[in-house]
Amino acid sequence: MIELKNISKTYQMGKVEVNALQGVSLTINTGEFIAIMGPSGSGKSTLMHVIGLLDRPDSGEYQLCGKSMQNLSDEQAALLRNRIIGFIFQQFHLLPRMNVLDNTCLPLIYAGKRALKDKARDKIKQVGLADRIKHRPSELSGGQQQRVAIARSLVNEPFLILADEPTGNLDSKSREEILLVLKDLNQKGKTVVIVTHETEVAAYAKRVITMRDGKIISDKYNGKKEEGKDLTRMEEACNIVSAAHHKVGRAEFSDFFRQAAAAMLAHKGRSFLSILGILIGVAAVIAMLALGTGAKESIEKQLASLGSNLLVVRPGSMRMHGVAMEAGSVTRFTFSDVTAINRLSDVARRVSPSVSGRAQVVYGSQNWNTQVEGVGTEYETMRNSTPAVGRFFSEEELRMREKVVLLGTTVARELFGEDNPVGETIKINLLNFRVIGVLPTKGASTFRDQDDTILIPVTTAMFRLLGKEYIDAIYVEVAEAQKMDEAQEKISDLIVKLHRLKKDEEDTFQIRNMADIRSTLEATTKTMSMLLGCIAAISLLVGGIGIMNIMLVSVSERTREIGLRKAIGATNRDIMIQFLVEAVLMACIGGIFGIILGSGVAILITTFAGWAVRISASSVILATAFSVIVGVVFGLWPARQASRLNPIEALRYE
Ligand code: ADP
Ligand code: MG
Repeated sequence: MIELKNISKTYQMGKVEVNALQGVSLTINTGEFIAIMGPSGSGKSTLMHVIGLLDRPDSGEYQLCGKSMQNLSDEQAALLRNRIIGFIFQQFHLLPRMNVLDNTCLPLIYAGKRALKDKARDKIKQVGLADRIKHRPSELSGGQQQRVAIARSLVNEPFLILADEPTGNLDSKSREEILLVLKDLNQKGKTVVIVTHETEVAAYAKRVITMRDGKIISDKYNGKKEEGKDLTRMEEACNIVSAAHHKVGRAEFSDFFRQAAAAMLAHKGRSFLSILGILIGVAAVIAMLALGTGAKESIEKQLASLGSNLLVVRPGSMRMHGVAMEAGSVTRFTFSDVTAINRLSDVARRVSPSVSGRAQVVYGSQNWNTQVEGVGTEYETMRNSTPAVGRFFSEEELRMREKVVLLGTTVARELFGEDNPVGETIKINLLNFRVIGVLPTKGASTFRDQDDTILIPVTTAMFRLLGKEYIDAIYVEVAEAQKMDEAQEKISDLIVKLHRLKKDEEDTFQIRNMADIRSTLEATTKTMSMLLGCIAAISLLVGGIGIMNIMLVSVSERTREIGLRKAIGATNRDIMIQFLVEAVLMACIGGIFGIILGSGVAILITTFAGWAVRISASSVILATAFSVIVGVVFGLWPARQASRLNPIEALRYE
């Protein structure tokens, strides 16, 4: 079955070369029970690893079932380890978080035969552990653990059992048990190779090979040499060896998923923390996008409510909006400008001046700071501000600079609660005002409550309350949408004429239409959304790095597990997928809860801050996609690290 010719293996230990195997030649026939003996360091384990396709010799020839094993790929070697060979190690190498049954099933998973659980149960019964099937390794004695390892090595019906000092960690009674199990297996036709340095153990074998310094120094039979039996199974083995070049069974995705979930549950605190990173990142993305979209929508609504034919005339430069100009370089507006624009009746349908400022309003013991705007009577129609309760102020009141006030709903609620404020007297900056109405609710806009405002006659505002000589803005409603440009031009010409502006002074005032205002507002919200988005993306990135960190820890912590999985037939790809699935799973869980948290935060923002938010489906999809990508990207490196581990070194890892 196995033919080794002149096998050599040299390890490099710093500058020293260790000749672990020096020209070993050996033939193993089907049905043999071989004990390999020799002092420590004589190359027994190395020989086992070569036979078991866990390691490759530097030189020499290895034939399994007449097929050369020289140019086997990693994948093919993994498949043969899974199907042909059963390993038993001195340290058992059971996975501590799994019970006896799951440990035994492990090689089945990599053979794509997870369904054959009964087979695992059979094998457990065969090693005499039927009553311990749900126990974890920590709840078993050493001898029992080793028997689980034997059951695991048997579950794929291997043809060859390789046991490296299987009794080294056991007391003499357990040793006896294990050896009887192995002997029994041999009697049932399995080929068994066992490494040991105890002569009592070797006594069970039919053939004893002694090694020293990487060479075989003796090869003896206990009794007569037997010919191989069970040749039909031999043929089967050979078929598998030949077929190793094709794809056979594969582990299923659900298995990777199950194992990832189990690994996460095994380290709940750690997994929770790394999930938390993604969770916060995704929640931030969702909340920020909700804010951005909400802001955009409310601006649009606001603009729509303004009507599309609105022009705003303001002092100051178009090019320098938002930046204060030097004194003297702006055109100031007065009521004569308003009257003059009002006379352009072919283009201007309605005109209203506006001044604004902040004021302290007091009613009884209630105190509130709000925006106060002084406007003309036309404002009511122009800005859809017909009071919900009470009435707007009249021309007469405007002319007489009457101290009357209309309250926004927020102000009304703050001062009067549920009571009707109409007819009451409030103090605005210590002056008494009579409340004549409550404005209709406009709702929240970007970071501003539009109902947190009060309206008073513009004359009262300028001359009694705010002490302003000039008008802050003139609103003009243009007769028809098509006349916007014409209106803009006519008003501009008029102002130039009225104020006797020179050519270079024409930009000391500005006339803006809705399109301008819209684009400015949109640009602002866009910048803001992008800024918020960047912050959110950064937190997601940090979350991703957290996952990567945890995965790297997990890989190094589970090095021996990886080695074991590889030894029993997991391919590099299997290991890679397992860790990748784990990372993606964590990221996705973080993503799902992040979406929930982010939406919750967005809803809280609306309820408590009054800002408009909007959770869009696209942002949810984006966040989900993001978390999957984060999982893949940041899981990839640790997963690769894991998959590239050398199985023997991994098994030795402390
Ligand atoms: P045994 O199992 O008979 O005790 P091994 O086969 O484990 O011996 O080792 C044979 C020799 O090869 C020893 O001298 C050991 O130190 C050396 N050796 C084994 N594995 C490595 C390795 N990965 N790196 C360097 N030296 C090694
Ligand atoms: Mg050894």
